[in-house]
Amino acid sequence: MAGLGGDDLGFVPTMGAFHAGHIALMEEARKHHQIACVSLFVNPLQFGPTEDLAKYPRDETRDFALADRAGMDIMFCPTTDEVYPRESTTVHVPVLTDRLEGKTRPGHFDGVATIVAKLFNIVRPKTAYFGWKDLQQCLVIRRMVADLNMNVELSFHETVREPDGLAMSSRNVYLSPEERSLAPLLYKALTDLAEQLRKSSETFNGMIEQATRELTKVGFEIDYLELVSMRDLHPTPTTEDAAIVVAAKLGKTRLIDNFRLNSKP
Ligand code: AMP
Repeated sequence: MAGLGGDDLGFVPTMGAFHAGHIALMEEARKHHQIACVSLFVNPLQFGPTEDLAKYPRDETRDFALADRAGMDIMFCPTTDEVYPRESTTVHVPVLTDRLEGKTRPGHFDGVATIVAKLFNIVRPKTAYFGWKDLQQCLVIRRMVADLNMNVELSFHETVREPDGLAMSSRNVYLSPEERSLAPLLYKALTDLAEQLRKSSETFNGMIEQATRELTKVGFEIDYLELVSMRDLHPTPTTEDAAIVVAAKLGKTRLIDNFRLNSKP
Protein backbone atom coordinates (compact mmCIF):
# COMPACT_ATOMS: atom_id res chain seq x y z
CA MET A 1 0.00 0.00 0.00
CA ALA A 2 1.35 3.43 -0.92
CA GLY A 3 1.61 6.24 1.62
CA LEU A 4 0.33 9.76 1.07
CA GLY A 5 2.76 10.91 -1.57
CA GLY A 6 5.10 8.66 -3.52
CA ASP A 7 8.64 7.77 -2.59
CA ASP A 8 10.21 11.21 -2.06
CA LEU A 9 8.12 12.78 0.65
CA GLY A 10 9.41 15.05 3.40
CA PHE A 11 7.21 15.07 6.50
CA VAL A 12 6.78 17.47 9.42
CA PRO A 13 4.57 16.14 12.24
CA THR A 14 3.06 18.94 14.38
CA MET A 15 0.26 19.82 16.77
CA GLY A 16 -0.46 23.06 14.88
CA ALA A 17 -0.60 26.66 16.16
CA PHE A 18 2.28 27.30 13.81
CA HIS A 19 5.19 29.57 14.60
CA ALA A 20 8.52 30.19 12.90
CA GLY A 21 9.96 26.95 14.34
CA HIS A 22 7.33 24.89 12.53
CA ILE A 23 7.76 26.95 9.36
CA ALA A 24 11.54 26.38 9.38
CA LEU A 25 10.96 22.60 9.46
CA MET A 26 8.42 22.89 6.62
CA GLU A 27 10.91 24.89 4.57
CA GLU A 28 13.51 22.14 5.04
CA ALA A 29 11.01 19.50 3.89
CA ARG A 30 10.07 21.70 0.93
CA LYS A 31 13.71 22.25 -0.03
CA HIS A 32 14.71 18.59 -0.05
CA HIS A 33 11.73 16.65 -1.38
CA GLN A 34 9.41 16.33 -4.33
CA ILE A 35 6.39 16.20 -2.02
CA ALA A 36 6.22 18.05 1.29
CA CYS A 37 3.64 17.15 3.92
CA VAL A 38 2.81 18.64 7.31
CA SER A 39 0.45 16.95 9.74
CA LEU A 40 -1.61 18.76 12.32
CA PHE A 41 -2.99 16.59 15.08
CA VAL A 42 -3.32 17.53 18.75
CA ASN A 43 -2.58 14.08 20.12
CA PRO A 44 -4.63 13.32 23.24
CA LEU A 45 -2.43 10.33 24.05
CA GLN A 46 0.55 12.52 24.94
CA PHE A 47 -1.33 14.79 27.38
CA GLY A 48 -1.66 13.89 31.06
CA PRO A 49 -5.08 14.18 32.77
CA THR A 50 -4.18 17.54 34.36
CA GLU A 51 -2.51 19.00 31.27
CA ASP A 52 -3.71 21.53 28.70
CA LEU A 53 -5.32 19.31 26.02
CA ALA A 54 -8.67 21.18 26.07
CA LYS A 55 -7.12 24.63 25.85
CA TYR A 56 -4.16 23.80 23.60
CA PRO A 57 -4.08 26.66 21.03
CA ARG A 58 -5.88 25.74 17.79
CA ASP A 59 -6.31 27.80 14.62
CA GLU A 60 -6.62 25.54 11.60
CA THR A 61 -7.55 28.30 9.16
CA ARG A 62 -4.42 30.30 9.97
CA ASP A 63 -2.29 27.13 9.99
CA PHE A 64 -3.63 26.09 6.62
CA ALA A 65 -2.67 29.48 5.10
CA LEU A 66 0.82 29.33 6.64
CA ALA A 67 1.40 25.74 5.45
CA ASP A 68 0.26 26.76 1.99
CA ARG A 69 2.63 29.73 2.00
CA ALA A 70 5.49 27.44 3.10
CA GLY A 71 4.80 25.36 -0.01
CA MET A 72 3.29 22.27 1.61
CA ASP A 73 1.64 19.94 -0.90
CA ILE A 74 -0.30 18.06 1.75
CA MET A 75 -1.68 19.18 5.08
CA PHE A 76 -2.84 16.07 6.91
CA CYS A 77 -5.35 16.85 9.70
CA PRO A 78 -7.05 13.65 10.83
CA THR A 79 -9.72 13.64 13.54
CA THR A 80 -9.15 11.91 16.88
CA ASP A 81 -11.68 9.20 15.97
CA GLU A 82 -9.85 8.51 12.72
CA VAL A 83 -6.51 8.21 14.49
CA TYR A 84 -7.78 6.30 17.52
CA PRO A 85 -10.97 4.40 16.60
CA ARG A 86 -10.49 2.23 19.70
CA GLU A 87 -8.01 1.88 22.56
CA SER A 88 -4.69 1.84 20.74
CA THR A 89 -1.72 -0.44 20.81
CA THR A 90 1.09 1.76 22.11
CA VAL A 91 4.84 2.07 21.64
CA HIS A 92 7.09 2.36 24.69
CA VAL A 93 10.72 3.46 24.31
CA PRO A 94 12.72 2.43 27.40
CA VAL A 95 15.53 4.21 29.31
CA LEU A 96 15.42 7.51 27.40
CA THR A 97 11.91 8.15 28.70
CA ASP A 98 12.66 7.50 32.39
CA ARG A 99 13.90 10.96 33.32
CA LEU A 100 13.26 14.68 32.67
CA GLU A 101 9.99 15.14 30.70
CA GLY A 102 9.26 11.42 31.05
CA LYS A 103 9.40 11.63 34.83
CA THR A 104 7.28 14.75 35.19
CA ARG A 105 4.84 13.73 32.45
CA PRO A 106 4.26 9.97 32.92
CA GLY A 107 3.02 8.35 29.72
CA HIS A 108 3.85 11.42 27.61
CA PHE A 109 6.49 9.69 25.49
CA ASP A 110 4.35 6.58 24.98
CA GLY A 111 1.83 8.97 23.44
CA VAL A 112 4.50 10.68 21.33
CA ALA A 113 6.09 7.43 20.13
CA THR A 114 2.69 5.92 19.33
CA ILE A 115 1.44 8.86 17.27
CA VAL A 116 4.74 9.28 15.43
CA ALA A 117 4.83 5.55 14.60
CA LYS A 118 1.24 5.70 13.35
CA LEU A 119 1.90 8.84 11.29
CA PHE A 120 5.02 7.27 9.76
CA ASN A 121 2.93 4.25 8.72
CA ILE A 122 0.15 6.40 7.25
CA VAL A 123 2.29 9.04 5.54
CA ARG A 124 5.31 6.83 4.67
CA PRO A 125 7.83 9.65 4.48
CA LYS A 126 11.35 9.30 3.14
CA THR A 127 12.49 11.84 5.73
CA ALA A 128 10.81 13.24 8.82
CA TYR A 129 11.78 16.61 10.30
CA PHE A 130 11.92 17.42 14.02
CA GLY A 131 13.18 20.33 16.15
CA TRP A 132 15.92 20.08 18.80
CA LYS A 133 13.70 22.32 20.95
CA ASP A 134 12.20 19.00 22.11
CA LEU A 135 15.54 17.30 22.61
CA GLN A 136 14.29 14.30 24.57
CA GLN A 137 11.58 13.76 21.95
CA CYS A 138 14.23 13.71 19.19
CA LEU A 139 16.25 11.07 21.04
CA VAL A 140 13.15 8.98 21.81
CA ILE A 141 12.07 8.98 18.17
CA ARG A 142 15.58 8.18 16.98
CA ARG A 143 15.68 5.21 19.35
CA MET A 144 12.20 4.01 18.29
CA VAL A 145 13.14 4.17 14.60
CA ALA A 146 16.35 2.21 15.25
CA ASP A 147 14.79 -0.38 17.59
CA LEU A 148 11.75 -1.03 15.39
CA ASN A 149 13.73 -0.95 12.11
CA MET A 150 11.52 1.79 10.70
CA ASN A 151 12.34 2.77 7.16
CA VAL A 152 12.53 6.53 7.61
CA GLU A 153 15.38 9.05 7.75
CA LEU A 154 15.31 11.58 10.57
CA SER A 155 16.43 15.18 10.24
CA PHE A 156 16.81 17.33 13.36
CA HIS A 157 16.93 21.13 13.27
CA GLU A 158 18.04 23.95 15.51
CA THR A 159 15.61 25.72 17.79
CA VAL A 160 14.13 28.87 16.31
CA ARG A 161 14.05 31.68 18.87
CA GLU A 162 12.43 35.05 19.41
CA PRO A 163 14.87 37.98 19.07
CA ASP A 164 15.28 38.01 22.87
CA GLY A 165 16.26 34.31 22.95
CA LEU A 166 12.99 32.71 24.08
CA ALA A 167 12.49 29.42 22.23
CA MET A 168 9.40 29.65 20.05
CA SER A 169 6.58 27.46 21.32
CA SER A 170 2.86 27.24 20.71
CA ARG A 171 2.45 27.48 24.48
CA ASN A 172 4.13 30.92 24.71
CA VAL A 173 0.69 32.49 24.11
CA TYR A 174 -0.24 31.38 27.63
CA LEU A 175 2.35 33.76 29.15
CA SER A 176 1.11 37.01 30.70
CA PRO A 177 2.99 40.15 29.55
CA GLU A 178 5.05 40.10 32.75
CA GLU A 179 5.86 36.39 32.40
CA ARG A 180 6.73 36.93 28.73
CA SER A 181 9.29 39.57 29.75
CA LEU A 182 10.89 37.14 32.24
CA ALA A 183 10.80 34.05 29.99
CA PRO A 184 14.03 34.80 28.02
CA LEU A 185 15.98 34.45 31.29
CA LEU A 186 15.71 30.68 30.87
CA TYR A 187 17.78 30.66 27.68
CA LYS A 188 20.09 33.30 29.14
CA ALA A 189 20.78 30.90 32.05
CA LEU A 190 21.58 28.11 29.56
CA THR A 191 23.98 30.23 27.51
CA ASP A 192 25.66 31.59 30.67
CA LEU A 193 26.11 28.04 32.00
CA ALA A 194 27.50 26.86 28.66
CA GLU A 195 29.95 29.76 28.66
CA GLN A 196 31.07 28.97 32.20
CA LEU A 197 31.45 25.29 31.27
CA ARG A 198 33.74 26.24 28.43
CA LYS A 199 36.06 27.81 30.98
CA SER A 200 35.86 25.06 33.61
CA SER A 201 33.61 22.13 34.41
CA GLU A 202 34.90 21.69 37.97
CA THR A 203 32.48 23.99 39.72
CA PHE A 204 29.54 23.23 37.47
CA ASN A 205 27.27 21.89 40.24
CA GLY A 206 27.72 25.16 42.11
CA MET A 207 26.90 27.10 38.94
CA ILE A 208 23.73 25.09 38.43
CA GLU A 209 22.67 25.73 42.01
CA GLN A 210 23.27 29.45 41.63
CA ALA A 211 21.34 29.62 38.33
CA THR A 212 18.47 27.67 39.93
CA ARG A 213 18.41 30.11 42.86
CA GLU A 214 18.41 33.16 40.59
CA LEU A 215 15.65 31.82 38.34
CA THR A 216 13.57 30.82 41.35
CA LYS A 217 13.97 34.30 42.82
CA VAL A 218 12.38 35.96 39.78
CA GLY A 219 9.46 33.51 39.72
CA PHE A 220 10.45 30.33 37.85
CA GLU A 221 9.58 27.02 39.45
CA ILE A 222 12.43 24.81 38.24
CA ASP A 223 11.57 21.19 37.46
CA TYR A 224 15.09 20.30 36.29
CA LEU A 225 18.25 22.09 35.23
CA GLU A 226 20.98 19.56 34.46
CA LEU A 227 23.96 18.66 32.33
CA VAL A 228 23.06 15.33 30.70
CA SER A 229 24.59 12.91 28.26
CA MET A 230 22.90 12.86 24.83
CA ARG A 231 23.39 9.08 24.89
CA ASP A 232 21.05 8.24 27.77
CA LEU A 233 19.94 11.59 29.22
CA HIS A 234 21.56 10.74 32.54
CA PRO A 235 23.68 13.32 34.39
CA THR A 236 27.22 13.49 33.04
CA PRO A 237 30.34 15.20 34.36
CA THR A 238 31.75 15.84 30.86
CA THR A 239 30.72 18.20 28.08
CA GLU A 240 31.36 15.65 25.32
CA ASP A 241 28.10 14.89 23.48
CA ALA A 242 26.18 16.51 26.31
CA ALA A 243 23.41 19.06 26.71
CA ILE A 244 22.17 21.39 29.41
CA VAL A 245 18.45 20.82 29.71
CA VAL A 246 15.87 22.83 31.59
CA ALA A 247 12.17 22.73 32.37
CA ALA A 248 10.46 25.34 34.49
CA LYS A 249 7.03 26.66 35.21
CA LEU A 250 6.39 30.35 34.92
CA GLY A 251 2.94 30.93 36.39
CA LYS A 252 0.84 28.16 34.84
CA THR A 253 3.02 27.73 31.75
CA ARG A 254 5.64 25.00 31.55
CA LEU A 255 8.65 25.98 29.43
CA ILE A 256 11.44 23.67 28.23
CA ASP A 257 14.69 24.51 26.53
CA ASN A 258 18.18 23.08 26.05
CA PHE A 259 21.68 23.89 24.90
CA ARG A 260 23.72 21.18 23.18
CA LEU A 261 27.48 21.17 23.80
CA ASN A 262 30.00 19.61 21.43
CA SER A 263 27.23 17.49 20.00
CA LYS A 264 27.16 15.64 16.76
CA PRO A 265 24.27 16.78 14.55
P1 AMP B 1 4.71 20.68 18.16
O1 AMP B 1 3.68 21.28 17.25
O2 AMP B 1 4.99 21.47 19.38
O3 AMP B 1 4.44 19.21 18.42
O4 AMP B 1 6.08 20.71 17.34
C1 AMP B 1 6.19 20.14 16.08
C2 AMP B 1 7.65 20.08 15.69
O5 AMP B 1 8.19 21.40 15.70
C3 AMP B 1 8.50 19.25 16.67
O6 AMP B 1 9.49 18.55 15.94
C4 AMP B 1 9.12 20.33 17.53
O7 AMP B 1 10.35 19.93 18.12
C5 AMP B 1 9.34 21.41 16.50
N1 AMP B 1 9.51 22.71 17.16
C6 AMP B 1 8.74 23.24 18.14
N2 AMP B 1 9.24 24.44 18.51
C7 AMP B 1 10.33 24.67 17.76
C8 AMP B 1 11.28 25.72 17.66
N3 AMP B 1 11.20 26.82 18.43
N4 AMP B 1 12.29 25.62 16.76
C9 AMP B 1 12.39 24.51 15.97
N5 AMP B 1 11.53 23.48 16.00
C10 AMP B 1 10.51 23.55 16.88
